[in-house]
Amino acid sequence: MRRRAGRAAIALALALVLALSAPACSRPPVAPDASAADVGWTAHGRTPDEQRYSPLARIDETNVASLGLAWSFDLETRHGVEATPLVIDGVMFVSAPWSVVHALDAKTGRPLWQFDPAVPRATARKACCGIVNRGVAADAGRLFVGTLDGRLVALDAKSGAKRWETQTVDPSQPYTITGAPRVVAGLVVIGNGGAELGVRGYVSAYHVETGELAWRTYTVPGDPAKGFESPALERAAATWSGEWWMMGGGGTAWDAFAWDPELDLLYVGTGNGGPFPIWTRSPGAGGDNLYLSSILALRPKTGELVWHFQTTPGDSWDYTATQHMILADLEIGGRLRKVLMQAPKNGYFWVIDRETGEFISAAPYTTVTWSKGVDAKGRPIVDPALDYREQPKLVHPGPAGGHNWQPMSFHPGTGLVYIPAFDVPMVFTAKPDFRFRPGFENTGLDFRNFIAFDEGQKIEIDAFLLAWDPIAQREVWRVPHVTTNNGGVLSTGGNLVFQGTADGRLVAYRASDGEKLWEAPAGTGVIAAPITYQIDGVQYVSVAAGWGGSFALSGGPAALLAGVWGGGRVLTYALGAHAEPPPKAMPPPPTGHAPKPPASPPSADLLARGSFLYHDHCMACHGPKAISGGTVVDLRDASAETLDRLEAIVLGGEREPLGMPRFDDRLKADEVEAIRVYLLSRNRRTDLRSATTPAN
Ligand code: CA
Repeated sequence: MRRRAGRAAIALALALVLALSAPACSRPPVAPDASAADVGWTAHGRTPDEQRYSPLARIDETNVASLGLAWSFDLETRHGVEATPLVIDGVMFVSAPWSVVHALDAKTGRPLWQFDPAVPRATARKACCGIVNRGVAADAGRLFVGTLDGRLVALDAKSGAKRWETQTVDPSQPYTITGAPRVVAGLVVIGNGGAELGVRGYVSAYHVETGELAWRTYTVPGDPAKGFESPALERAAATWSGEWWMMGGGGTAWDAFAWDPELDLLYVGTGNGGPFPIWTRSPGAGGDNLYLSSILALRPKTGELVWHFQTTPGDSWDYTATQHMILADLEIGGRLRKVLMQAPKNGYFWVIDRETGEFISAAPYTTVTWSKGVDAKGRPIVDPALDYREQPKLVHPGPAGGHNWQPMSFHPGTGLVYIPAFDVPMVFTAKPDFRFRPGFENTGLDFRNFIAFDEGQKIEIDAFLLAWDPIAQREVWRVPHVTTNNGGVLSTGGNLVFQGTADGRLVAYRASDGEKLWEAPAGTGVIAAPITYQIDGVQYVSVAAGWGGSFALSGGPAALLAGVWGGGRVLTYALGAHAEPPPKAMPPPPTGHAPKPPASPPSADLLARGSFLYHDHCMACHGPKAISGGTVVDLRDASAETLDRLEAIVLGGEREPLGMPRFDDRLKADEVEAIRVYLLSRNRRTDLRSATTPAN
């Protein structure tokens, strides 16, 4: 940075000499250096089209090798960091786990204020995929954050003081908010999640100034006996059967929005069905189950549905269409088309006419086996051979998709979309005798064997950064990764693409050919997307790093391939900077005493019961076979003290303040005892595994 400042000083001196020596009459008009202007990152996807491309080009392919750490800020969390920071007037706003918002000086990282919405720790139980938050929205001096427990809070951007707050969900239902709000036409728009537990999805819009509800649009029909909220929902109800509303139905809009102010359309991506298998929620006839796994175009002022495009009719695989949507104008077949692009979980890259919802093209961007292709209207052709109703079936993609919430980026210069993609199949196993239980995990799947591996076993996971030509619908280049759950993507006018990796690096590639030009250690896995901004003529690249999210929670040994641990921090880079990097995040060392082996080996029946209960109630956060994926404590290291207190912890809520919710409404004492015996069998401080090897 010093060297760069020196050059700038020389250039300025030279300009002064030239200006002073030139005759006044012929002095050229002094054009302000437009490239030196301050440029922020003022909305989640930078612009309403959510391209996540910045024209800033002071950092480019020729000098990116000299990028160094300018500053870092400790987010003081071990949980997943998924936020895209905003930078407005030199201030960075970044959200952390538990929906905490930090305001930092974007030049130095100096903390300005912090807002903690005090989310009750018991809310963790409702969050399928971690206590994460993907960012804030801003409008005219206000900030908006959705909290994990379903509130929408407006803050004063200068002071962090609360302006208003409203509850957007029924707190008795298992709704959560992890997504970033968007400000659209004077309204702040927010969705929610919870399809896995059994809720009905919807989007709400509130007046930015007052927090008053402007409209609410449900994504799936409710109980027909109560009447439909709109003709669109009445039409949707004809595509369902049975009593789906008793189970919520799903279709939650938990992440992606995009906005075209000219067409006056707000685009909403909707989630999977709840429960997953269609025969459990819409028995008999099945049907498309509108508007699950769909892209909805709504009128921003009213929430009225203008058109819909369903990417996975009658979804049975958790194939959400909540993934990032990008709006761009592309010349296709000799015509300039206003398109919407999405790579949802189902493995197809879609190009849709965003004015009409008309299908333009689709092609698989990863391995796809659930479908044999799409028909002329863009409807996927489901392969009946992979129906898992009668017996388990290996299906590509698995429920994590071929691409998840990690944002893509579109570079108008290269014309490419950069997709943080992967190829991770799953054996889908229908839960025998599935029965919906309110408030429980209600996927309808049996996860005990979903990852058929144990410690030391080779794991077949493919993950890559994919450069995709959306017009030709083909891959242009790819960069393979160590494991899945890598970061979102940024592209810039410097012919660069930035992406963080699961194994703890931030990397810059040449946008046109994928050649790696620079990397820096992040000291933790990077899953969020980087941003770039410019202040006082200096361009910065910044990322909110922090391993976590669903893969780190339930991925166990596969997640540990990344070799990182959760440890949230904001890392900000500039040319020639050389700040000291923060220490690498490390797993907490085991505490307390090693548990003692039982007097006599437990019965195989008790162990099997403990394993079943563990995987039904605990695995989603503590990992398969009690193997932590790098975010929560590894239960294989549980101390004698912890195992002795297991009933008080699980049923009594003894560690609720630490984020371990109570389960007294789900589990009984004898069930906790079976889980305790199972955990003892998995303990690696007291090596009992050879003596007591459970079947699962
Ligand atoms: Ca889901």
